[in-house]
Order: sequence, then C-alpha cells, then structure tokens
Amino acid sequence: MSRAEELIRELIDRVAGEVGLIIWDMRPREELTDEEMSIILGIEINEVRRALFALYELGLAEYRRKRDEDTGWIEYYWRIKYDKQKDVLRRELEKVKRKLEEKVQYESENIHYMCENGCVKVRYEEAMELNFTCPRCGGRLEYLDVTEALDKIREEIKKIDEIIAEL
Ligand SMILES: [Zn+2]
Repeated sequence: MSRAEELIRELIDRVAGEVGLIIWDMRPREELTDEEMSIILGIEINEVRRALFALYELGLAEYRRKRDEDTGWIEYYWRIKYDKQKDVLRRELEKVKRKLEEKVQYESENIHYMCENGCVKVRYEEAMELNFTCPRCGGRLEYLDVTEALDKIREEIKKIDEIIAEL
C-alpha cells in the first residue's frame, strides 16, 4: 500500500469511522442507495448513512436524490469519488502543515516559562510579573526550551512536503 493510500485510509477512519472504511473498500462500480449498501454490507442503515455523509463532508462521496415512483420516498443514490482521493489528501495535509507552521511561528516568537511541577505555562512577561513563582503551587517557573520540539515539528513539516510532492 502506498503512503498516500495509507493516509487516506487513516483520514477516512478518523472522520467516517470503520464503516466509512468498509464502504471505501467496497469499491462499488455503480451508484447505490444507502439501503442497498446496508443490505450488501450487513450494516445498520443509520451507520451506513452516517459514514456516507462523513465521506461526503470530506469530498469523497456524492449523492443524487431521486423520488421513488412507487413509495413516493426520496432515495439517495451514492457514488464514492475515488478520483478525488489525492485532492482531498492534499487539502488535509496542507491544513495540518499550516497548523504546524503557525505553532512554529508562535513558539519562536514567544518565550515561555513553565512551572517546575508542570502546573502552568506562561509567557516571559507574565513570568516576570509572577517573580518566576508558580501561582498555583509556589514552585519555580523555569525557562522552557522548545528548540528540540521545534526541530521535530520542522521535521514533520518536511515529511508532509515530501508526501505532497509525491501525490
Ligand atoms: Zn506549579
């Protein structure tokens, strides 16, 4: 399995759950109603619907509504959009990357102090006002070295860039 495939599965699992993955793996060749899927998969219709709408929110499924001539009910005909896989993945990876970049920026622009007992994390200015004493436990506020943490985040950003480039 390629890295991209792995990631799209992780994403589906996180957003649409196990049922979402089962539907994804089903690879239906034609449109199916949620009811048909429910019968084929032996999974409760409400769970199938929930997963389908989660896939829809991600941009990995679309539906068409049609009124059933006999019953008069509206039926949903679903199609899974395998061709959108890369676009969705790129969008999600870029979202994650943006958050990481914001974190790097914030952490490099702000010096923080942390209670030696881990109760609070405050900015330098606030630590000074507190005389470097924790307001909760009276412990010492110590300089928080984020160099290593930032290196790790930068490393992660690099990996994301590599994956995006391979898509
Ligand atoms: Zn403390």
